[in-house]
Amino acid sequence: MPTYTDMTRCDGCGECVDICPSDIMHIDPVYRRSYNIEPNFCWECYSCVKACPQNAIDVRGYADFAPLGHKVRVLREPEKGVISWKIRYRDGRIKEFAFPIRTTPWGSIKAAGEYEKPDAAAFGTQMLAHEPTALHIDALPTLEQKTIPAKQAKA
Ligand code: SF4
Ligand code: SF4
Repeated sequence: MPTYTDMTRCDGCGECVDICPSDIMHIDPVYRRSYNIEPNFCWECYSCVKACPQNAIDVRGYADFAPLGHKVRVLREPEKGVISWKIRYRDGRIKEFAFPIRTTPWGSIKAAGEYEKPDAAAFGTQMLAHEPTALHIDALPTLEQKTIPAKQAKA
């Protein structure tokens, strides 16, 4: 379900423009408000929804669950650790859902450049820089290579 901006809420801060992996959130040069220039190319990742400090980005619901006239409001609620969805139907019914934002504490993910520079030996392993910490292991599990005793091999 692609996104669209509620221009009465948007203040043109550009957070959604910076975060959109599809580069389709743009600031209108006249109105200084963001808009989704190409909904067909929207990944529906909702990074813009989560990033918007004004809760100004709404989602176009698919016709199978939200027929014409509905409204889908998505809110980021970091204090509760959830993204909440409120769907308001034409007949007045309201449905609400809440999903956890993430499984790691807010701001705890390190950027690649924050990891220590690997030493020469690290380039010979299959281990990624974050894996010892993230997986709580010193080495990746591997299949044991069993050698067949010489006697058994001849039989
Ligand atoms: S949902 Fe994702 S791809 Fe679509 S406009 Fe927002 S950030 Fe861009
Ligand atoms: S992040 Fe929200 S307030 Fe900022 S430009 Fe985008 S829609 Fe507007």
